[in-house]
Amino acid sequence: MSKYNSDSEILHVPFEKPDAYHSLAMPVYHTAAFEFNTAEEMEAAFCGRSTDHTYSRITNPTVQYLEKRIQTMQDALSVTALSSGMAAISGALFTIAKAGTNIVTSCHLFGNTYSFLNDTLGSLGVEIRMCDLTNPEEVRKAVDQQTCAIFLEIITNPQMEVADLTALSAIGKEYHIPLVADTTIVPSCAFQAKEFGIDIEILSSTKYLSGGGTSLGGIIIDYGTFDWKHSPKLSQWADRYDKLAFTNRLRMEIHRNLGSYMTPQTAYMQTLGLETLQLRFEKQASTCLELATRLQQTPGIQSVNYTGLPDNPYYELSLRQFGKFPGAMLTFDLDSREHCFAFLNRLQLIKRATNLFENKSLAIHPASTIFGKFAPEQRLNMNIKDSTIRLSVGLESCDDLHNDIIQALSDSRK
Ligand SMILES: *Cc1c(COP(=O)(O)O)cnc(C)c1O
Repeated sequence: MSKYNSDSEILHVPFEKPDAYHSLAMPVYHTAAFEFNTAEEMEAAFCGRSTDHTYSRITNPTVQYLEKRIQTMQDALSVTALSSGMAAISGALFTIAKAGTNIVTSCHLFGNTYSFLNDTLGSLGVEIRMCDLTNPEEVRKAVDQQTCAIFLEIITNPQMEVADLTALSAIGKEYHIPLVADTTIVPSCAFQAKEFGIDIEILSSTKYLSGGGTSLGGIIIDYGTFDWKHSPKLSQWADRYDKLAFTNRLRMEIHRNLGSYMTPQTAYMQTLGLETLQLRFEKQASTCLELATRLQQTPGIQSVNYTGLPDNPYYELSLRQFGKFPGAMLTFDLDSREHCFAFLNRLQLIKRATNLFENKSLAIHPASTIFGKFAPEQRLNMNIKDSTIRLSVGLESCDDLHNDIIQALSDSRK
């Protein structure tokens, strides 16, 4: 046990090797390759007998420092930092899935994840079984011997659906299937994935972690809780590497073959972002709850969707899993697509942009943008409505945000 509290400990995770100039910030090792003194040392590094860095597509000291900080913070077996949230999702699922296996998930998913599963993995012979993850009985019926993962988003974006993680984890344990979750919507200071039985956690560090939308990144966290000898794809790796089967296959094969490692510059920025994550999250999420409450009383708004509101159908479950502040994203409905467009066009402070959890508040009409390429019946099936606006709440004052929304609503209704 550390003698410091976890916030203090994260700030002071030491570098692997002391910096020659005593730099307080992790130096950015912006290099493609690393030099060796001898051919023997070079052989040892390339063959995995030493941990020396060889080439920055495989490992890099700056990126490794970010990984080590997150690993310490999450008490994880391993952390791998990739070039985007999608690189993390695809990297994790390429590690687990192969032709003939299936993934049990929901059709309520982030647009690119939906497409990755159905179009990319689907065309490689992986069956994608969409069911209602909020109904454990349906999940139980969907899984079988060839199920290689149960995959979910902890709060779906933008539908805001919440599955019972304890129930899903119990099914995963019973049938020996890993629970793989995209936790982008609620950061680790409010949600501890390991406590809820998530075996592999994936997040887009572009969002909360980057600290102001500076850079794209994705993180895969392996908690070492799944026994990979039960995995249709990893059982042989488990014979050889035991608990490290997933991590080693991801690192020794998948991410280096896909060329999707994080860049050192990004790792530097996201390490800084990590240092202020909790502070930013507390401010953004408490403003989000306050704003959601006010928007429920604001004329012109038909309904507000935020799982931290006591009348939300997922309130109790959300409170149990994520606490009082389940993230800093909310959605609300106006009466038509036309009003949504007019509203967006009138905003003065809130920016019209995609992305989540930047320091600035951002608004978007998901149906015409993120889900714009899906057919109307697909959108209906995914519960993406023409009347919905998604708002990512930043660091502005709640009054300023509410006033901007009120003025944009009044003009959009003329
Ligand atoms: C943004 C997002 C992603 C994709 O992350 P990128 O960093 O943009 O690749 C995946 N899942 C969720 C829930 C997201 O919000």
